Amino acid sequence: MTYRVFCAPVPLEAGTGVLVSFEDISHLEDASQIRRDFVANVSHELRTPLTALIGFIETLRGPAKEDAAARDRFLAIMEKETRRMTRLVTDLLSLSRVESEERLRPAGEINLGHCLASARQALRPLAEEAGVAVSIEAPEAPVIVPGDADQLQQVFNNLIENAIKYGGRNKSVTLRLTRQEAEPMLRGPAARVDVIDEGEGIDPIHLPRLTERFYRVDSHRSREMGGTGLGLAIVKHIVNRHRGRLRISSKPGQGTVFSVILPAERG
Ligand code: ADP
Repeated sequence: MTYRVFCAPVPLEAGTGVLVSFEDISHLEDASQIRRDFVANVSHELRTPLTALIGFIETLRGPAKEDAAARDRFLAIMEKETRRMTRLVTDLLSLSRVESEERLRPAGEINLGHCLASARQALRPLAEEAGVAVSIEAPEAPVIVPGDADQLQQVFNNLIENAIKYGGRNKSVTLRLTRQEAEPMLRGPAARVDVIDEGEGIDPIHLPRLTERFYRVDSHRSREMGGTGLGLAIVKHIVNRHRGRLRISSKPGQGTVFSVILPAERG
């Protein structure tokens, strides 16, 4: 714990006394430590691909100058790294926008069935490349929640993209939408979206830290897949802003379910 100490002279009948007060400022220390870690992480995430790019540029100018096959291979890697850095900067901007809006109540009315359909459509090329079939199970009646359209779209895009990426080749991903009249955690009506994959699953020891910025179970695999390590942190912030809950349950070897539970209007 860290305290800030204030001392002030106080006039007393028998002379002058001293008033000493202690203020617990541990939370400020924690916040500045988190900020320092964040800046260090971002610097590391950017410096690694930049160092690789400089190395490739030097090689292309020198030893690989006349080697067409090597040139194509290096250019492909350079393109991949540059795209990942672009994604990182985009995710950093999203995170900072979401954080700055966290206290504002979202204003729109969102049809979650439509939201899931357009996420599936946007991710069709990725799913096709991985041979993953994405199916939607939803009730016939529309499920509507108060929310921010772009942000909720981002939540489902991120979760479905992860399910495709980490769910394994030629497997299935199911998006299950349900409405619950009395959700115990939210103490009222709620909409629930389960993003279910059939991948390797996640060891339970990782679950509590999974939504931290830059936390990855397997850094090498995440980077190979072009991941930034920020997707779930963004999801968590958006779900919090909507006063919802994010639940993760996973069975190693069998798959993972990410559940987003959002307060809904009374039906
Ligand atoms: P990334 O850009 O690395 O995918 P995320 O914040 O989206 O970053 O996810 C953090 C980590 O959580 C990933 O690196 C991965 O290890 C793990 N993860 C996320 N979704 C899944 C999933 N559906 N199955 C297994 N692991 C997952």
